[in-house]
Amino acid sequence: MKKSLCWIRRDLRLHDHYALREALHEADECLVAFIFDELILDKLHNKNDPRITLIFDSLKEIEHELNKHGSSLIVRFGNPVEEIPKIVSEFKVDGLFFNHDYEPYAHRRDTEVEKILRAKNVEVFHYKDHVFYEKKEILNGSREIYKVFTPYKNKWLETFRAQEEHIPEYKCNLKKLSEIKNSKNILDHDWLTEIGFLETECVLTGGSKEALKRLENFENFITNYKEARDIPALEQTSNLSAYIRMGNLSIRDMIRLAVEKDNAGYATWLSEIIWRDFYQMILEAFPHVDKHCFREEYDSIKWLGKKSDFESWCDGQTGYPLVDSAMRCLNTTGMMHNRLRMVVASFLTKTLLIDWRLGEKYFAEKLLDYDMAANNGGWQWSASTGVDAQPYFRIFNPYNQSEKFDPKGIYIRQWCPELANFSNKSIHSPHDTEMEEQLGAGCVIGHNYPHPIVGYKLQRDRALSMYKAVK
Ligand SMILES: Cc1cc2nc3c(=O)[nH]c(=O)nc-3n(C[C@H](O)[C@H](O)[C@H](O)COP(=O)(O)OP(=O)(O)OC[C@H]3O[C@@H](n4cnc5c(N)ncnc54)[C@H](O)[C@@H]3O)c2cc1C
Repeated sequence: MKKSLCWIRRDLRLHDHYALREALHEADECLVAFIFDELILDKLHNKNDPRITLIFDSLKEIEHELNKHGSSLIVRFGNPVEEIPKIVSEFKVDGLFFNHDYEPYAHRRDTEVEKILRAKNVEVFHYKDHVFYEKKEILNGSREIYKVFTPYKNKWLETFRAQEEHIPEYKCNLKKLSEIKNSKNILDHDWLTEIGFLETECVLTGGSKEALKRLENFENFITNYKEARDIPALEQTSNLSAYIRMGNLSIRDMIRLAVEKDNAGYATWLSEIIWRDFYQMILEAFPHVDKHCFREEYDSIKWLGKKSDFESWCDGQTGYPLVDSAMRCLNTTGMMHNRLRMVVASFLTKTLLIDWRLGEKYFAEKLLDYDMAANNGGWQWSASTGVDAQPYFRIFNPYNQSEKFDPKGIYIRQWCPELANFSNKSIHSPHDTEMEEQLGAGCVIGHNYPHPIVGYKLQRDRALSMYKAVK
């Protein structure tokens, strides 16, 4: 083939990239393109969305690297179904290469692009890159998709070992990039204004260099992961999710580290990465989970919660300190620790009795690492409506969670500074303290910090009846 085009989407890197490796290998020369997809961007109402900054950081890094090889990233804004065929015609491309994306919209879009190009006799190639095992690679004894995580994980590991733990590395020979100059390149053209967004700050720096640096740094504390991963104040998880979501890292980069040593910390981390593959597989196989409960009987739940309680949850004003801290952290940084995602999701659905879809949508707007498969999986797990979800009668007690996972209130003090002077014991339920203690702590409940908006015990009973009604 004379000229190939590699279309990058959620794989914003130039190393260990399956589609790019193939596009470079199969053609005399290769172009790389990125489309700002108007159908996705139109749905982002916050024009200060920090995720756009992360994408820009990544694209700028890519452009610098391409420039070193006399090339430049082709950038467009519009509907990819129209823009990709235009690029193919303009540059007389013979073959399009991209990596699989398992989200329902992306799947439809890619099928459409492929159909259009094939009708024009342009070849189309696509690859598994985003996950380690995809689609129907891991099946149970009846050749069906696993719906329970532990046997899936066991089969995943068995398959991996049977392949002698071989982790492919897709090295990209950038010397074969097409020599082009692009006046509307990502460094010189004001793309931010063109796509209708504003310059904003992000707590993370995007791009592969930063991602690989963080991966290397995580190696210093991965041994503690099993014990420390549940304590938010320790910050002992990798914090790589936004990078793997943008594809600044490859999944193989992560797995290479995860299997480096035979140690509980490494093994537990690998297990989390396998959860990621699991949820991607579920979304691909059961796309209805995007809008519906995986277990359809739960679609008839009559959610009893109030809109005002949802607003308090969003604002971190529920009167439950750990929940409020987690939500304030999300609102400020776009990040939230996994334990706290479970706590606030359980709280929204089983204490405030609010439909998980509202929480899922709020997370989708705020999370820097927002990923439809993992987010949907996490929400449906917490709400007991998903695959291998916790049983509906398992309801996190927000006070116990707080005492167990933030025993000294370090995390709460950081995000709810008005509670900072309460004792380690009182900080989890400050409304239970006497007025004297509240005055001493400089925080009167109901004045400086809200009373709990609902009572946990009563809501627990209501949640059980709400779920039982549809069983
Ligand atoms: C309600 C809810 C919503 C969630 N929404 C998202 C989301 O939108 N995007 C997202 O990437 N993760 C989501 N998760 C999973 C998990 O909370 C994050 O992946 C994790 O907190 C990211 O932090 P880390 O990179 O330090 O993870 P680490 O603990 O270092 O784990 C390593 C990597 O494994 C993957 N991973 C870890 N846990 C899970 C999991 N339970 N499911 C799928 N992948 C996992 C992530 O890619 C993560 O970066 C959600 C979990 C819940 C309970």
